[in-house]
Amino acid sequence: MKLRIFCDFDGTIAQNDVGNLVFTTFGNPDHWWNLVDRWRKGELDGRDLWRRQCKVSNMTEQQLDEFAAEQPVDPAFPAFVTFCEQRNIPVYVVSDGMDAYISKILRFNGINNLKIRANRLEIHPDGRLSVEFPYYQKDCCNCGNCKGYHVKKEKRPGEKTIYIGDGFSDVCGLKAADITFAKGYLLDYCRENDFECKTFNTFSDVQNQLKMLLGE
Ligand SMILES: [Mg+2]
Ligand SMILES: [Zn+2]
Repeated sequence: MKLRIFCDFDGTIAQNDVGNLVFTTFGNPDHWWNLVDRWRKGELDGRDLWRRQCKVSNMTEQQLDEFAAEQPVDPAFPAFVTFCEQRNIPVYVVSDGMDAYISKILRFNGINNLKIRANRLEIHPDGRLSVEFPYYQKDCCNCGNCKGYHVKKEKRPGEKTIYIGDGFSDVCGLKAADITFAKGYLLDYCRENDFECKTFNTFSDVQNQLKMLLGE
């Protein structure tokens, strides 16, 4: 069986929700949670959430480097990446967060070769931030980056797509993928809405279940 894997970043690969942490650390926490709440209720476009956060936040490239160096990933993730590499299984990181902190955190953990599909953060020399949304899908969800779009776009004939996630922005990925591994909010969502999924806590659980799926 040929597999193609799509992983959420915040709370799935990274142990923390780094998007939340970046904008509560370098921005205004009250403002952040208020806007996140409105976004989850569907009152706010995902792009406006990030644009408004960027307006009230300020950080330099060096501050983000120092911050990223302290962000842990799931300890089983590096071995999972190797497991996939050995079997030529492509792995995509799909995130409604920002490419800037994702690539830094992966690099600090020795992971340099994953395909990252996320919103684009630009850090200006004076610490101002701006953001672009190369994967926004206006007729789908209210995420800045529609994760289901990537699953559908990258799937090749005869492959099974695997989605791994934990949150609100993973619902489009869940709906588009053949098999989903869920925890946290996404698991509750699957149970409440009758979506089939497999559960996991760490990437070692995912790896064990994929081994079975591959008949190893
Ligand atoms: Mg997440
Ligand atoms: Zn979508």
